[in-house]
Amino acid sequence: MTIRPARSEVWLVTGSQHLYGPGPLAQVGANARAVAKALSAARPVPYPVVFKPVVTSADAVRAVCQEADQAPQCAGLVLWMHTFSPARMWIGGLSALRKPFAHLHTQFNRDLPWGTIDMDFMNLNQAAHGDREAGFLHARMRLPRKVVVGHWEDPEVQERLGAWMRVARGWQDLQGARIARLGDNMRRVAVTEGDKVAAEERFGFAVDGHGVGDLAAEVAAVPRGAVTRLCAEYVESYSVAAQLRRGGARHESLREAARIELGLRAFLVKGGFKGFTTTFEDLHGLRQLPGIAVQRLMAEGYGFGAEGDWKTAALVRLMKVIGSGLGGGTSFMEDYTYHLHPSGSLVLGAHMLEICPSIASGRPSLEVHPLGIGAREDPVRLVFGAPAGPALNASLIDLGDRFRLVANEVDVVEPPGPMPRLPVARAVWRCRPDFKTACGAWIRSGGAHHTAFSYAVTSEHLRDLAEIAGVELVLIDADTRLAGLEKELRWNESYYQPPRGGRI
Ligand code: MN
Repeated sequence: MTIRPARSEVWLVTGSQHLYGPGPLAQVGANARAVAKALSAARPVPYPVVFKPVVTSADAVRAVCQEADQAPQCAGLVLWMHTFSPARMWIGGLSALRKPFAHLHTQFNRDLPWGTIDMDFMNLNQAAHGDREAGFLHARMRLPRKVVVGHWEDPEVQERLGAWMRVARGWQDLQGARIARLGDNMRRVAVTEGDKVAAEERFGFAVDGHGVGDLAAEVAAVPRGAVTRLCAEYVESYSVAAQLRRGGARHESLREAARIELGLRAFLVKGGFKGFTTTFEDLHGLRQLPGIAVQRLMAEGYGFGAEGDWKTAALVRLMKVIGSGLGGGTSFMEDYTYHLHPSGSLVLGAHMLEICPSIASGRPSLEVHPLGIGAREDPVRLVFGAPAGPALNASLIDLGDRFRLVANEVDVVEPPGPMPRLPVARAVWRCRPDFKTACGAWIRSGGAHHTAFSYAVTSEHLRDLAEIAGVELVLIDADTRLAGLEKELRWNESYYQPPRGGRI
């Protein structure tokens, strides 16, 4: 992913109090410094955990929370009560804190020294009750947070914290992000609509509309030499159909696709955008619907939503940042068609063109085919399959009074047969817990036909995201039962009651 997020760090803020005196407090600080250093070096932890001086007063808590909110590189706080820290001193700081936090419930000493344990040891290793005092206050204040429990050297603890840090970085990246909306959304489609004001307030990203003519002008300005060079890069990178190669009957289509890619990239770079949408219903000035251009820009890290779907564009960008550096890619996706066989139903996911090659199982093939809908020239697109393995689909919908995140864990499978006549990139998956439950739950929840599909992002990431964003998550996984899910949806209608005149 080349469109990288800015630098990130989280701060380890350790709570204590003055009662212990300078000696033990110095030891607490040294221990916290060692924990921060070890976590920073741990493989599952994606970026630095920075030690912050131990806080022992309300003023100190307030100061570090204000500093965190002001520090652009700070993605969030990790709180830990090494010793007892009376929680009322945290009220002021945590009331003001805007950055996400995780509560790391750990203890510096892993083992109790049974033969030598004395009151000095007891007074230094107090997280067992110190963190309970903190947990009460967080619960009392209804603060969103992740609680991670266990010894700090435990790889599982590092995994849980690392997962949250990935989401905190994605959230940091989303604040102030701009999504370019080229043309409106597909006419009369409901689920791609939404409240852009509410989305910016809730998630921090802005959606900026542009006429497609703004893009067409960039495309027209692309120099011939740059087009020739990009076509050569295509030939290096993909299995390019003979008719598209230089001298082939459709080479001009390849050049046009390259011109669109260069123009689109220039447009996005100039505008400082992190994602974009297109729509096949508004292509004035463009000769093809962008295919390979969108695919390659997604692989570089841009979020994308087709048919004006700006919510999915933002979600794809967010999930790309969350999954960055993990194995497996992330793409825009659509539940396209079904294999309803009695031995096990499958979903074929694809789109007209715009699937990200970060999920390709092999070397993509570059081809040109008619689109079937729309009235433009045949678009050039990368065609490939996706590897078998666990993945998920996530959809962000606007219910009118709030946003809902719907997700389904799936298992991508090898397709039962080759599909030589299908000219689009695709993935074939089995839904968890089973096709009927998953699709029933998805439709009951109002999940969209467009999703962000990922091998890298897990349902744990999405839970952490929903907690940080303060949105409802409907997770469809191996444990889902329809009757329970239907009740959950009804209960959520009560839990997510908007204030009068407002929205959750
Ligand atoms: Mn679509």
